[in-house]
Amino acid sequence: MLARVTLEIALRKEFDYVVPPELVASVQVGTRVRIPFGARQVMGVVTALPESSPHTQLRSILGVVGKQSQITPYCCAPEIAIKSVLPDAVRKEKDGWRERLFVRAMLGTKELPKLTRRQTDVWHVIEERRELPLQELLELTGATSEVVRRLEDRGLVEIAPQILERDPYAREEILPSQQLSLNAEQARALAEITAVLHSPQVALAEQAGANRNKSSVFLLHGVTGSGKTEVYLQAIDAALAQGKGAIVLVPEISLTPQTVERFKARFCHGPRQTLVAVLHSHLSAGERHDEWHKIRQGRARIVIGARSAVFAPVDPLGLIIVDEEHEHSYKQEEAPRYHARDVAVVRGEMEGAVVVLGSATPSMESFANATKGKYRLLDMPTRIDDRKLPVVRVIDMRNESRKQKGSPIFSTPLKDALSLRLERKEQAMLFLNRRGYSTSMQCQTCGYVAGCPNCSISLTYHRWENTLRCHICGHQSPAPTVCPEASCKSPGIRYSGLGTEKVEDTLKKLFPQARVARMDSDTLQKKEDYRRVLGDFRTGKIDILVGTQMIAKGLHFPNVTLVGIVYADLSLHMPDFRAGERTFQLLTQVSGRAGRGDVEGEVFVQAFTPFHPAIQYARRHDYRGFYEQEVESREALQFPPFRRMALLTVRGRNEEKVAYAAQHLRKVVETALAGWKNVVFSGPAPAPLAKAETYYRYHLLIRGRQMSRLSGVISACLAAEQWPEDIRVTADIDPVNLG
Ligand code: ADP
Ligand code: ZN
Ligand code: ZN
Repeated sequence: MLARVTLEIALRKEFDYVVPPELVASVQVGTRVRIPFGARQVMGVVTALPESSPHTQLRSILGVVGKQSQITPYCCAPEIAIKSVLPDAVRKEKDGWRERLFVRAMLGTKELPKLTRRQTDVWHVIEERRELPLQELLELTGATSEVVRRLEDRGLVEIAPQILERDPYAREEILPSQQLSLNAEQARALAEITAVLHSPQVALAEQAGANRNKSSVFLLHGVTGSGKTEVYLQAIDAALAQGKGAIVLVPEISLTPQTVERFKARFCHGPRQTLVAVLHSHLSAGERHDEWHKIRQGRARIVIGARSAVFAPVDPLGLIIVDEEHEHSYKQEEAPRYHARDVAVVRGEMEGAVVVLGSATPSMESFANATKGKYRLLDMPTRIDDRKLPVVRVIDMRNESRKQKGSPIFSTPLKDALSLRLERKEQAMLFLNRRGYSTSMQCQTCGYVAGCPNCSISLTYHRWENTLRCHICGHQSPAPTVCPEASCKSPGIRYSGLGTEKVEDTLKKLFPQARVARMDSDTLQKKEDYRRVLGDFRTGKIDILVGTQMIAKGLHFPNVTLVGIVYADLSLHMPDFRAGERTFQLLTQVSGRAGRGDVEGEVFVQAFTPFHPAIQYARRHDYRGFYEQEVESREALQFPPFRRMALLTVRGRNEEKVAYAAQHLRKVVETALAGWKNVVFSGPAPAPLAKAETYYRYHLLIRGRQMSRLSGVISACLAAEQWPEDIRVTADIDPVNLG
């Protein structure tokens, strides 16, 4: 038996080794192994088990490290899994270390030799800076490198290549922050976390035994503004004190400079300059490479990042924090379809690390685990300094429509509240999770609706560029002035459906004196834009900020005393069993932006279904109440957290073929699962988004209990079947997106 191994010291190459008979049973793809390399022993990860090798005289694997594969099976090919564990830039090394020539002053006792004027000028710069990149020196002084070489000949300077790290936050000046003294709730939470941190072996042993209560996974349920971050920071400190590192996962959208600064301010000063590494999707390949190696080499011990940071090579690992654990962006929507929160729990178990899942609105799954005692529940029900949670008023938009006639964007109470804030020089945020101006264009004469030619959705009107755009595939066309239907050509075009652009526009007309800004992916072309808008809002240069979910999460602006949710029903009517949960979470998160300073906050929720439980429980800040009624219906309908799900999607350009393949798929899987109890099939049926990017989509949903076995059977079915060339079948275990 042979194994192909990627070395942990040099990931650019793979080498083949012989697997000795005694290790055959324990070596699989993903296993960590000890191998001879030159005169040394090094660590590696098995990436494949090839039949043969182009090389002769292979050496043998010396041993297996750890019991389990490093890579958990997620219904996808191991090559794909490895790719997400090791960032591209690290595997390929094409953007490897950026080596640059540095000039360093050789300061000694020796007399300064006689220099030319030019040389003296250059020398003064070097002397003052001690060390700087050659390129920068040349730019500063306007000298040629010849001049610097002369100085080197004289023994005054040394020119040597040196690695220049691309620190994406290098230009920031961050003031150090001190530990805050915790309030009682925070102190209790921290004490429980550190107790397990100090005795992970005990916890693991207990966990293996009968007492599942002593898990090392915590669910920190803290209301918005309860000070969860301070608990994280001090827990990290405790891990560091034990010589261990930490990973902090935050949703991509919350990985703002503000968030990163809170961690850097605590841990990055003086000799600990490199202690925090940041991993997210906007890093250049080169930056990603540098951060990864900084972690690998142990110079960075704390990693902050979006979902893929859960694989960061922190070793030894003491703590994994998953902030906003309910967020759906933790699920990767393409293969490998892992959920970073679930990987965190598995990794924590494997490496004896404590895992803290934090949220003001925990997912149904995690809260169910906490009530079962699988996770330990930590409660922080009050805000810091006993600040009150904002008063939430639900406004029945059916009445407003009657009173104001037509379809008003702002109810009278919201308008009044906005003018009051402008008068008092307080700030407001308005939230609507839909960008663009109008969401549909219809001809009044013939009924034509502008739809995307590639997808089964209508096009959104963007007024600032006068286009119709598809939010799925990006299709774009100029907005017509007359009906595009050849036989009609009527000018009676009507736009309807509300987007952030129209909210902004209407607001400016309503309050001409107000300074209004909008924040959604249309207004933010560059990453500096994001920082600039938030900066302007923070310094009071903006009165009202309008935005999509970008402004819903994690932002802390003490002067915001009013939050308006323009159209709360939007997320309620999604064809998804989690629509209620999502709406509750969204309303709670958005409301949480109000009243974080000294003045109490107020929230206006505009809704056409004001009595929906998701809206009413959010109004009362009652997470438990919502959980309890929601869990009941989940049980009745056999949905998660009571059953697990596998979502199979069949895609293809020919709708009939897709429908046929989906029928066939159901038969194949049903046959393979004959005799299983408690397995429920739904579909196949056209997906809610029936066509996307020219591909028709059919869904088959399977619910059951023993998902690890079930997913094994499903992936075997998919692999065994010969699908027509133009048909794609994928499996998503525990899907979060049912669209
Ligand atoms: P959460 O993440 O739970 O919404 P934050 O961590 O953003 O809450 O905390 C809200 C505010 O309270 C922050 O400005 C934070 O600095 C402050 N804070 C947190 N803990 C304390 C404390 N023990 N004493 C004083 N202020 C605190
Ligand atoms: Zn028409
Ligand atoms: Zn489209």
